[in-house]
Amino acid sequence: MRDPRYDILFEPVQIGPVTARNRFYQVPHCNGMGYRDPSGEAYMRRVKAEGGWAVVCTEQVEIHPTSDIGPFIELRIWDDQDVPALARIADKIHEGGALAGIELAHNGLNSPNLISRETPLAPQNLPVATFSYDPIQARSMTKSDIADLRRWHREAVRRSLQAGYDIVYVYAGHALGGLHHFLSPRYNNRTDEYGGSLTNRMRFLREVLEDTREEADGKAAVACRITIDELLGDAGITKAEIEDVIGSIGEHPDLWDFVLGSWEDDSVTSRFGPEGEQEPYVRGLKQLTTKPVVGVGRFTSPDMMVHQVKSGILDLIGAARPSIADPFLPRKIETGDLEDIRECIGCNICVSGDFTMSPIRCTQNPTMGEEFRRGWHPERIRPKTSDSHVLVVGAGPAGLEAARALGNRGYTVSLAESSRALGGRVEREAKLPGLSAWIRVVDYRVQQIAKLDNVDVFLQSEMTADDILDNDFDHVLLATGAHWRADGVGRWHTHPIDTADGAEVLTPDSIMAGVRPRGRRVVLFDDDHYYLGGVVAELLAKEGFDVTLLTPGAHVSEWTVNTMEVARIRKRLIRAGVACRTNTTLTRVDSDGVGTACVFTGDDGHLPADSVVMVTARMPENRLLDALTARQNGWAQAGLKSVKAVGDAWAPSTIAAAVWAGHRYAEELEEPPAPVVPFRREVTELVAEPDKLLPLTPIQTVRS
Ligand code: ADP
Ligand code: SF4
Repeated sequence: MRDPRYDILFEPVQIGPVTARNRFYQVPHCNGMGYRDPSGEAYMRRVKAEGGWAVVCTEQVEIHPTSDIGPFIELRIWDDQDVPALARIADKIHEGGALAGIELAHNGLNSPNLISRETPLAPQNLPVATFSYDPIQARSMTKSDIADLRRWHREAVRRSLQAGYDIVYVYAGHALGGLHHFLSPRYNNRTDEYGGSLTNRMRFLREVLEDTREEADGKAAVACRITIDELLGDAGITKAEIEDVIGSIGEHPDLWDFVLGSWEDDSVTSRFGPEGEQEPYVRGLKQLTTKPVVGVGRFTSPDMMVHQVKSGILDLIGAARPSIADPFLPRKIETGDLEDIRECIGCNICVSGDFTMSPIRCTQNPTMGEEFRRGWHPERIRPKTSDSHVLVVGAGPAGLEAARALGNRGYTVSLAESSRALGGRVEREAKLPGLSAWIRVVDYRVQQIAKLDNVDVFLQSEMTADDILDNDFDHVLLATGAHWRADGVGRWHTHPIDTADGAEVLTPDSIMAGVRPRGRRVVLFDDDHYYLGGVVAELLAKEGFDVTLLTPGAHVSEWTVNTMEVARIRKRLIRAGVACRTNTTLTRVDSDGVGTACVFTGDDGHLPADSVVMVTARMPENRLLDALTARQNGWAQAGLKSVKAVGDAWAPSTIAAAVWAGHRYAEELEEPPAPVVPFRREVTELVAEPDKLLPLTPIQTVRS
């Protein structure tokens, strides 16, 4: 039963003409599915509605071909052709009992229009402000462009109503939309009535809000999503300006949705910002309007949510990531099942779906993005089909998730772990600087497993092939993980590098096991390019070592561009005194240092060092798999039907991939084999060919 302390979170909230059933609000968030996988998106949103969110929104929806942010995959409402896909999303949200919100966006300076080839539009002539340096400039909008954009927005509102949306957005946030660019002194240097004073800079926003209101005509609520501080001082939008904006047009929309700075600022990872980080910025704004306000802060704690409402900071608890990690968060609070909440760890793997244009995945929630494709559900799984006994070897993220999900299916499960602790790599990595929230991956699963009578956990139980064949297991899952290699092999070197006798080479495994370099001077070679190289460098620098990080990448921790951490990581390393050498590789390890080479010229150099830390690649821990495979003839006699390795033991990857692989094993055990393409997909529909085709060039006969 619900704790009465949380009753306030379940009060309905009036948003203009519509009513949210409670205060849980899934704010717009991208997902890498969009127009390519609309049914995938529809079912993902449906699960959230089912999980109790009162409002479930789309990501940004491009209103016109001049707002084409390809190659990124969002939604489109360019013309009537887009309406059926948008309607399916709204319908699925309604099926789950939530209000459907649509975030209409004209991306302006942020749309390179690579697909449409239209000229980008902006307050002034400027190069496009995209994530890559597209060699494209936007054109300063004329009055007639402004009139056009207002008309396109009206048409998009009309189509949104047709598609069944209850809340229609006007988007002026994250520096990702034209209305933000007009509002910001950083982008707007116009001298007409749309530039200069704040009144002028917000004119366009006011006009579009008025248009939207008129067009919605009381049939849908109007929401305004706005950046409340660009964090650029007077060079950008300040909170003081936003106070004036709300003072002036505070009653124009039916709801204010506050965001902080750019998307990087708004979706900060747990490594760089705590839950509720935005509170000081949002505080006080609600008092400037009678309309409800929503804001985010990676909220997973109901007490923190209550605090937001009771102290008059927010009316609605906004969430993107917490709703991804646990689509059933509101329901679990409602039923008092707080220990079942799968708390977001703040890693931004979900964000990487957008950046890599692939369907959203989540470290904590392996079913995310698989609701339609594979029919997975975050809270339900089909019952077992036999009384088989499954042994899971290894209690890292893959083994824990497999044991949890198999247990939920009703199988008898034994989970054997050789060490004294559950969690595998996560248990170790969560002790590194900034990664403590990652332990939630382990905590959630250990808690869930503890509730299952049919899952037995054995610590300090190193399994051998004999142990397995001498016991009565029907299926064996090997989730034995991987270890970091010390021979330099990775992306740059595909064969071991020369290492002098007596040189000290450490790996993240040795550092996490407590080993420390023997001297002060450490060279860390990062050819992995995700977070760990940077984190280990930070740890050693904080402990007083003199660290140089070498990487063949153009950036330190280069892949974290996809989790929006790359700039913060560099800043933190600079502040910690780590010397960063990019575009540089390690060529050999000498007894007194390392050989280096520029990745472009090959020019070599030498860096003195007492120790080297290799963060390059991992080797699967597959000795047990090999031993069992060698004895396959004995399986039938032992009653063993299958042996399978998943996660890092099969091929090292992210924690998210390990959790997913463990989950997949549990979903598919003793199920009929999947077809060649093991998931549903939507294939581009062919339209009718044009009536008049350009004639083919006649083939010239060449006479010899
Ligand atoms: P993954 O990310 O794939 O889940 P991890 O490396 O995090 O992999 O976890 C693997 C776990 O398996 C570690 O906790 C390790 O101690 C355990 N392990 C490895 N080999 C054995 C074995 N033979 N018997 C029991 N546990 C094992
Ligand atoms: Fe949270 Fe990471 Fe899941 Fe995103 S991927 S929702 S940040 S746990």
